Order: sequence, then C-alpha cells, then structure tokens
Amino acid sequence: MQISVVVPLLNEQESLPELTAWIHRVLNAHQFSYEVILIDDGSRDGSWEMITELVQQNNTVKGIKFRRNYGKSAALSEGFRVAQGDVVITMDADLQDSPDEVPGLYRMVTVDGFDLVSGWKKKRHDPASKRWPSKLFNRVTGYMSGIAIHDFNCGLKAYKKEVVKNIEVYGEMHRYIPLLAKWAGFTRIGEKEVVHYPRKYGVTKFGWERFINGFLDLLSIIFVARFGKRPMHLFGTLGLISFFAGFLILLYLSIGKIFFDVTKMTERPIFYLGLVTMVIGVQLFLSGFLAELISRNAHDRNAYQVDKQLNF
Ligand code: UDP
Ligand code: MG
Repeated sequence: MQISVVVPLLNEQESLPELTAWIHRVLNAHQFSYEVILIDDGSRDGSWEMITELVQQNNTVKGIKFRRNYGKSAALSEGFRVAQGDVVITMDADLQDSPDEVPGLYRMVTVDGFDLVSGWKKKRHDPASKRWPSKLFNRVTGYMSGIAIHDFNCGLKAYKKEVVKNIEVYGEMHRYIPLLAKWAGFTRIGEKEVVHYPRKYGVTKFGWERFINGFLDLLSIIFVARFGKRPMHLFGTLGLISFFAGFLILLYLSIGKIFFDVTKMTERPIFYLGLVTMVIGVQLFLSGFLAELISRNAHDRNAYQVDKQLNF
C-alpha cells in the first residue's frame, strides 16, 4: 500500500462526506493504492454514524472510535499505530486542508527523499487573533529547534512510514511533530506551500488556551530533549549559580560585620537577596536529585533509535 491518509476528527459530521469523496477523487485519479483512516476522537454529533456509512460505501475507508475525547495528539497517535501505507499523510477533517496536495507531498517523500514534509499555510484563512500568535509561536519554535520551517502546526503533513512508527505523539505534542521527528533522528525535514481554506462547517475545536498550552509544551519538550536523561546538569548548574550568588552576598555582609563592624546587617535589603538565592539554590539541587532518580528509573532509560544493524 502506498498511502495512508490519517484524519483525526471531533464533531465534524458535515465535512466527512465531502472530505472522503475528495480524497477518493484525487487518489484514484493518480491510481494510488491507499487507505483512509478516520479517527473519531469522542465526537458527540453524528460523526461516527457518518463514518459507518462511509466505510460501507468504500472499503478503503477505515474507522476508529475513541470512547471519549482524548485530543488530537491521541487520535494521530492511534492512526500512526495502525497505518499501513509507505507514506502516511495527515490532514484535518474540516476541509481546511486540501486533498489535492497529497500527490505532491507523496512525491516529496518518495522521490525527493524527505522523512517528513510539513504543509505551510502561507496564505492562511483564519482570524487574525489566531494568525499572529501562531506566527510568533512558529518563529520561537523554529529558533529553539533549529528546524527551518514556517508552519509547525499545519494539520497537513506527509511522513515516511518509518517516522510515524518511531515517534510518540502524546499530550498535545501534535504541534511539535517535526521536533519529535528530528530528535528521533529523522533530519530530512521539508516544507511545501499548501492551499488553505476557511472552515466550511462547524467551529474550531481549540480555544485561546492553545497558546498557553502550546508554549508550556514547547518548554517541556525542549527540557526533555536536552536534559531528559541528565536533569541534574540543568538543575545543578542553576542551583550552583544561585547558591554561590547568595553565598558571596552573605560572605560580603559577614566580612563587613566582622572586620569593619558595619552594624544592622539584617536591615540591608541585599541580605534578604542573599538568603533567598541560597535557599533557592539548595532547592534546585534537590529538584535535580529527584529528577535524576526519576529518569534513572524510567522504563525507557535505555531506549535508543537503532537505524541499522549488521550481522546480528
Ligand atoms: N480534533 C480532534 N480532537 C480534538 C480537537 C480537534 O481530533 O480534541 C480535530 C478536528 O476535528 C480537526 C483537527 O483536529 O479535524 C483540527 O482541529 P481544528 O480545525 O478545530 O483546529 P484549527 O484549524 O482551528 O487550528
Ligand atoms: Mg481547522
């Protein structure tokens, strides 16, 4: 099988018939062998009934229904687990992403040799309240990760099968799949300008919390990637800096007190700064030790991505 189209969806009943018909039209025109995996992430509208109907109409369509809403990352993760195509294409269900892009994306993976190709909604049809924060988010993510793409969170992406079988998308990490791929060792990451449409039916499933959650996730993902296996190097360094800053301040105050008899040490504001930074330093150290204990007992502490082996 050449292509798996993975579509996570939550309450997208109205869009599904149009979306699947469009996918069939494009992929059949190019004579691809393919499957369309629709993952119902706990919809409360008629999405699942619609999927049942679509599966009956066309046996390339497969459906998975979550018992409750777990989030887009969970839906993608489940789709990745079952996908059989050599190239896996993800797209949103709301008709904002165009199935017309699939053949081009497929070519970039199979012919140009990219591990992952991310869509870039250059001309984006979303409200400005979403476009501007998203620009900032993409800049920061690009800078922190060293991945030169413009649009990390585009729903439309193409992957080599190997990539989706070897990364773990959890929490709300769907915004950072290119980073997960890069850190798993899949470094040929490309980008393709794609057309983007306004949402045709229904409403967006992500509110303003997306920005706060997205930012917090970025911090954790960078922390885990850099220091996940050696947390003490981060906490310990910060702890040392803080502790010694406090120590020097208190040393300075003590010398003043002992040798120059500067009285009322506790009435000098800098005394409290010294005290607080020393205490914080110790706490950072303790956090570092705890983090080390946890990471040393993690089940995946020795899980590495093995690419090839010879003579085993
Ligand atoms: N989605 C999902 N589970 C969720 C939230 C969203 O499967 O908990 C799906 C949604 O149905 C859509 C895709 O993820 O197919 C992108 O969501 P949406 O279009 O609401 O995001 P936006 O385009 O506003 O960023
Ligand atoms: Mg959308």
